Amino acid sequence: DDVESHAVFVQGVSVEFDGFKALDITRFGVHFNDLRVVIGPNGAGKTTLCDVISGKTRNKTGRIFFHKEEITGKADSEIARLGVGRKFQTPTVFDSLTVYENMELALPGRRPVFKNLFGKETSEQRDKIITILRRVHLIEAINTPAKFLSHGQRQWLEISMLIVAEPKLLLVDEPAAGLTDKETELTAELLLELKGNHTIIVIEHDMEFVRRLASKVTVLNEGKLLAEGTIDEVSKNPEVIEAYLGR
Ligand code: ADP
Repeated sequence: DDVESHAVFVQGVSVEFDGFKALDITRFGVHFNDLRVVIGPNGAGKTTLCDVISGKTRNKTGRIFFHKEEITGKADSEIARLGVGRKFQTPTVFDSLTVYENMELALPGRRPVFKNLFGKETSEQRDKIITILRRVHLIEAINTPAKFLSHGQRQWLEISMLIVAEPKLLLVDEPAAGLTDKETELTAELLLELKGNHTIIVIEHDMEFVRRLASKVTVLNEGKLLAEGTIDEVSKNPEVIEAYLGR
């Protein structure tokens, strides 16, 4: 059934802020190791959908399942432990630390509040960091302080910091925002590669980028699921056109 066949499944979920319904979704599911793009005008509920899956926001009604387990009402730390990783638009990279040091901090169980963090990782962890940095074309910058990275390189570092903890589901907020064409292309390639062993939900505004991802798109509007399909299908849907133009 729906719960068994999806990595994440949202059923009858509503979220309210002071009586205002920010999200009201009957059914939303993403299959295992699939990539889903969520689009919609500002205020459509895209962030709230990710917040409710990651446990940052509580739903008023409905049920949420992750890898067949019900996670409704669980704390965000617990949901993260189960394998949900989130990349926000705001940077989580430490400017004065090198690429490698940032990756060390992202290792599971590491917290920046402790001293003597560095140099304690196992050779296995070191190999893992190096493998990931190769994959995201950051190996040359391994000893570069993060403040000297380009915007695109920072985005890849953040994605790398997310995957070093081996999450099963990645929630990625606008990874192409502010990137050059070349960087956008590399970011799309990276996400498509990651899809091989992660389920990914991407919130995105850049339609060129959405096209590149060539994945199923979910359109939200005023908290409701308006349409699903390929980007070409949904962009021909009159309701979707109206939702975008009506703003
Ligand atoms: P999107 O990510 O699609 O732009 P959001 O999920 O951020 O949309 O917001 C959906 C609606 O919920 C918006 O009308 C927004 O103002 C409202 N909203 C989101 N978070 C809060 C909050 N913490 N308190 C009150 N209203 C909120």
